[in-house]
Amino acid sequence: MRKKTQMIHGGISRDEHTGAVSIPVHHASTFKQDGVGNFVYEYARTGNPTRHALEELIKDLEGGYRGFAFGSGMAAISSVMHLFSTGDHVIFTDDVYGGSYRLVTKVLKKYKIEVTFVDTSDLAAVEAAIQENTKAIYVETPTNPLLKITDLAEISKLAKSKNLLMIVDNTFSTPYWQNPIELGADIVLHSATKYIGGHSDVVAGLVVVNSEQLAEDMHFIQNSIGAVLGPQDSWLLIRGIRTLAIRMEEIEENAKRVADFLADHPQVSKVYYPGFRDHKGHEIHSKQARGFGGMISFDAGSGEKAEEVLKKVKYFTLAESLGAVESLISLPAKMTHASIPRERRLELGIADGLIRISVGLEDAADLIEDLQSAL
Ligand SMILES: *Cc1c(COP(=O)(O)O)cnc(C)c1O
Repeated sequence: MRKKTQMIHGGISRDEHTGAVSIPVHHASTFKQDGVGNFVYEYARTGNPTRHALEELIKDLEGGYRGFAFGSGMAAISSVMHLFSTGDHVIFTDDVYGGSYRLVTKVLKKYKIEVTFVDTSDLAAVEAAIQENTKAIYVETPTNPLLKITDLAEISKLAKSKNLLMIVDNTFSTPYWQNPIELGADIVLHSATKYIGGHSDVVAGLVVVNSEQLAEDMHFIQNSIGAVLGPQDSWLLIRGIRTLAIRMEEIEENAKRVADFLADHPQVSKVYYPGFRDHKGHEIHSKQARGFGGMISFDAGSGEKAEEVLKKVKYFTLAESLGAVESLISLPAKMTHASIPRERRLELGIADGLIRISVGLEDAADLIEDLQSAL
């Protein structure tokens, strides 16, 4: 089954009992047993039919062994990090999502899970960071907001040779464009709040693992911690996934046009977009993904100028988050990355005037006119 078909027919796409073509929302928290221990579903934290349909669908889309749905992207990431124990060491992409950084440096630190942040686009640096107690490499590609690219196949080779787990946050690319398990990853996770939900109306997280052992471990953690996704939100994600392919195709077209416009604009000094031939990692991304996504960052010159642009745009909504039908705009230095000291920010390449946009489904001509007049 090809991806577009999978989005409609993958997982459990209809109700066996009634023939309903939309999976019912099962609000039941518990299920009648036909004799002690004789049941399909027992208790809804452990398993719920609507959540199960979603988990089967994301498993198919990522080409893994089993899927899991959580109450947020962070709940998914926290649950995955519970695979590790005190004394274990994990290597992370240096410009990993801010919430993931906070989780591992502030919360997991209490449990003495050691972490090192490295530029995972530099394979030698990753190899050099491996210690005796290293258990996993956790990669995000492309990253936020500079869209840095990591070679997933190369990281996988390295991880396999050292017997390490490879975990990939695939939020930016979505399972439509990139499937890290096919490239050797063991665990793929998503903030489904973004493109997978796609309509800015649900907070959720998804995990897919590639083996029976990891499936057993993850289900044990999911059931024990209990950060599960509710049935209504599970249904919303299934509904979102039905149009994920077509949304990603359209966003791709829009993003290309907006990126080209920005690159030609005299007041824009630098545009970060993986679709550009001169973007660092363009070749690698083209090899491992089928599309470039809807995220673009550009330097408007100064913090004042950038704030002016954010104030003037009509169709770009000033907000955190990304991946929705409506285009969003943000200023990383004052929003998502405000907690990083300015000097460190500049070192990472996050200028005061750097604007990040998430291109949505409006007419590209309107988006371009909007940016044109705001600039
Ligand atoms: C938003 C996001 C997360 C966290 O997901 P929530 O659903 O907000 O908890 C994790 N990783 C990436 C790349 C994100 O963009």
